[in-house]
Amino acid sequence: MKMLVIGGVAAGMSAAARARRLDETASIIVFERGDFVSFANCGLPYHIGGKIADRDQLLLQTPQSLAATLNLDVRTGTEVEAIDRAARQVRVRELAAGKTYTETYDKLVLAPGAAPLRPPLPGIDHPRICVLRNIADMDRIQKLLEEGAKAAVVIGGGYIGVEMAENLRERGLAVDLVEMVDQVMPPLDREMARPLENHLRWHGVNLHLGVAAAAFTESEGRLRTELVNGQMLMADLVILSAGVKPDLRLARAAGLAIGPRGGIQVDQHMRTNDPHIYAAGDAVEVTDLALCCPTLLPLAGPANRQGRIAGENVCGRHTVYTATQGTAIVKVFEMTGGGTGANEKSLQRAGINYRKIYLHPSGHAGYYPGSAPMNMKVLFAPGDGKLLGAQVVGYDGVDKRLDVLATAIRAGLQVHDLESLELAYAPPYGSAKDPVNMAGFIGTNLLHGDLELWYPEEYPDQTRNAVLLDVRSAMEYDTWHIPGAVNIPLDKLRGNLDRLPRGQTILVYCKVGFRSYLAYRLLKQRGYDVKTLSGGTMTFCNYHRTGICPGTPEPPLLSYAEERQLAPAAAPPVPGRVVELNCAGMQCPGPIRRLAETMQGLQTGDELIVSASDPGFTADGAAWCRHFGHTLVSQEQAGPLVRLRIRKGGPMQPAAAANSDKPAGAGKPRKTMVVFSGDLDKVLAAFVIANGAVSMGSEVVMFFTFWGINALRRSGPQAPGKTLLDRIFGWMMPQGAAALRLSQMHMGALMRRVMRAKQVDSLPGMIAQAQAAGVKLVVCSMSMDVMGLKREELIDGLEIGGVAAFLGESAGADMTLFI
Ligand code: FAD
Repeated sequence: MKMLVIGGVAAGMSAAARARRLDETASIIVFERGDFVSFANCGLPYHIGGKIADRDQLLLQTPQSLAATLNLDVRTGTEVEAIDRAARQVRVRELAAGKTYTETYDKLVLAPGAAPLRPPLPGIDHPRICVLRNIADMDRIQKLLEEGAKAAVVIGGGYIGVEMAENLRERGLAVDLVEMVDQVMPPLDREMARPLENHLRWHGVNLHLGVAAAAFTESEGRLRTELVNGQMLMADLVILSAGVKPDLRLARAAGLAIGPRGGIQVDQHMRTNDPHIYAAGDAVEVTDLALCCPTLLPLAGPANRQGRIAGENVCGRHTVYTATQGTAIVKVFEMTGGGTGANEKSLQRAGINYRKIYLHPSGHAGYYPGSAPMNMKVLFAPGDGKLLGAQVVGYDGVDKRLDVLATAIRAGLQVHDLESLELAYAPPYGSAKDPVNMAGFIGTNLLHGDLELWYPEEYPDQTRNAVLLDVRSAMEYDTWHIPGAVNIPLDKLRGNLDRLPRGQTILVYCKVGFRSYLAYRLLKQRGYDVKTLSGGTMTFCNYHRTGICPGTPEPPLLSYAEERQLAPAAAPPVPGRVVELNCAGMQCPGPIRRLAETMQGLQTGDELIVSASDPGFTADGAAWCRHFGHTLVSQEQAGPLVRLRIRKGGPMQPAAAANSDKPAGAGKPRKTMVVFSGDLDKVLAAFVIANGAVSMGSEVVMFFTFWGINALRRSGPQAPGKTLLDRIFGWMMPQGAAALRLSQMHMGALMRRVMRAKQVDSLPGMIAQAQAAGVKLVVCSMSMDVMGLKREELIDGLEIGGVAAFLGESAGADMTLFI
């Protein structure tokens, strides 16, 4: 049997080597156009970055070594120019000598790979615009770097573009990365790519997302890249990594069938429509495992397996290649990200129903150094829970979880099967409940109806008529919260149920979804209509991105420009002490709480260096500093650890530090109000004014007296130990904001319905908002006494005071109302 192989890298060499192992007598010739065979093209970016110092390490085999070990006839620098199917022969050109000859075959394996795309843009052929596919490309880039290139533009934010951006930064170049879609790593869903984008920015890669390159021109010895938005990027070289296209030249000319996605069409045996010709690797179309449709997935693993299967079948076996699931992974400095199976975008495009969950478990036990929460997304079928796809992005243990999920998908497992996987555990490697098990628990809860989820994309359009309930601590809420949310920390929820309306959906959230799940179970069992935010604010912020989240008062993440301004070099000398605080491994809200406690013990001018493994701490810590008037001197990333250096500003209010209920507000304008009326419309008007004033920067104090106090009553039984008269009085008066009546027309129920329809907050909602925004609610002690009301019959968060308290507050006010 005489076998010819066209292409001597992943698929081609796998086919040739496998055929030799099965058939010692076959004559096997491999043609490779380039000067090298079986080289490690996946390692090319890392030699450019310096990680793989020795170029020879990339050259895994030579024609001589392949001849010696496998008796293969490997001809490099030799291009196959044409296939004559009728004569079963190929025309070959020796590139150096220019000599051509023909070679006959019994079986031919076509493995020409895929060529980098070169969009037809003006200036695209400039010699300093490079692609990276093989050793020669790598050498060309190395040469430009050695000649002193200082800045590079990378076009394309896929795997190779991101790897090149990282490695060029490692070489000390300034790097701009341009990506046409508005995310890096298009195989991931947008919100999952977000942590990688932040991390690239952290490392100084300047991202231009959602914008395409338009033209390249030479300018004063440099290369100018013009973007479609008019921006100009100056650089010394451009790396073009805008995708690849199957090399079909030979296949087309030979009349081989081409599939709908533009790859060589093969059957499950990797055989083309010619029974003597097989094809494998990046040039062929395969079936997508989850979507069950033809696809192009240019990856090394599938290429090697397909080549091996082609080699087996050439030797008379009947081995089958079923499908590709696109499992892929990328290193982005200290982070790792990857996916397997379908992503949400592709499921939507294919019209396939799915459920999804987000979670943020730690890579390994939080108490063992080096751990950090990861971002995990799992997609599965709504009915039986069959796994469809997964994405994982984080620091430690990402590859392991991705591979477990890839195996589960390949095995056709269902999401509940993940619960029972028995995975390796010791503190340095994982948790007794592995992140994959956790995904199983959450997915199963969802399918069983033990959990109902809401998602970041529902905000704000689909959340307007609901109550957004933040169950994190007051400090976390103050630092940043979803606009419009009220805060009842989880540990205070049972005592504040009367603040939550019954007829409205309550959308609970916390940082990662665990506290909100507990709140969900609590509220659900008490009859509330409730859902919990999948993935918490971590996923929410990834989805909405800095500055895009509508109405976000304080961006949760610093912009690149801000981060640059915070470069450690800019830090002035430290006038006070420097204290270190290690919060590594702590789950939210641990780091921010410890930060506040520690800061309270410091003097103005002292500095605190706080380390945390929670990636969200960068945003939380920065926002916390802004909020409390401290200076964020620097931020840096050391592996999975975030390190913030914070200089203490003015003295913190003890209450603000311990409970973080509100920042010190010295010098603010102040409004005071006496709320005397207990009429729904009048109390509503009072809170509309209060909430408006506080949002415009005023302090607001509301003094509730006589009938007005009824707005602040809890529902439920009256306090024990009251006199009969007080009890009768208590029964006759409205019990709380939800029970107040209108001053006119007596159509309170209708009014509430109209308010809901017109998306006006309910009175309980407004009271909660006012409290969360720092409006001080003072209840007249004398009126309480007269009306027989006890403190425990009123909602939490009130102060009890006399007329002197009110007059004291009003003394410095610029407006006082009597309602
Ligand atoms: P190729 O490896 O491209 O080999 C095809 C060969 O055929 C070429 O050498 C070409 O010269 C030769 N050829 C073509 N036509 C002819 C002809 N007419 N005559 C003679 N020879 C011919 N994948 C991953 O899964 N993980 C990674 O981390 C990863 N990193 C990568 C990094 C880089 C920089 C690159 C370029 C690719 C990376 N890939 C990665 C993709 C992976 O390398 C490819 O999927 C895989 O190499 C495809 O194998 P192939 O044999 O189909 O094609």
